[in-house]
Amino acid sequence: MSKSKVELDEEMGIYLGQINTCIHEAAHGCGALHVGVGLQYIEIGLDDISFGRVMTPTQILSDGRIAYPERGAFVSACGIAAAQVYHLRRGGTGHDLTKVREWLASIEDADKIERKILWKARTFVAKHKSRIFKVAHALQDQRRLDGQTTDRIFRGTEEVIVPRRFLDAVGMMQSVRWVDTDVGLRAFKYPVGDSTN
Ligand SMILES: [Zn+2]
Repeated sequence: MSKSKVELDEEMGIYLGQINTCIHEAAHGCGALHVGVGLQYIEIGLDDISFGRVMTPTQILSDGRIAYPERGAFVSACGIAAAQVYHLRRGGTGHDLTKVREWLASIEDADKIERKILWKARTFVAKHKSRIFKVAHALQDQRRLDGQTTDRIFRGTEEVIVPRRFLDAVGMMQSVRWVDTDVGLRAFKYPVGDSTN
């Protein structure tokens, strides 16, 4: 069997890194909108493109407990789900799993609920691929999306055309290797079947 190689120039490697981060954060953001916990904004780093975050308001009950822990866990789980479904870099998802467990820490049957939420997030992320990609592309373009804009894109009242280049990049995701460089996350070529993500 011949070893096929994915050839990536520097620009494409950086673009893939951006897309990776944007899809991950878009999945969190769309998950927040889906379960109705509210979304303040989503952003990715201006310099370090591997940096991204999603801000959702956390509601604390009068007794100090967090309101809607399962919804919070779902939002965190969407990052893990996006990495699984779209073959994104797994590196950032350990933090998401920690967050899921933090959300569920005070809940009975946490293990069972965690499995249920991870499964629900996976179903959600797979089902809403086109909406998540639209949010991700807009995020890549604008670097920061406020909650209302994200909501309009997610609901389809603001149209975003996802370019062919974006979809091609998604198709390459499972055959690249990730390296953190001084300009942020970058994808490199490598022989297919040798992934160390
Ligand atoms: Zn995440």
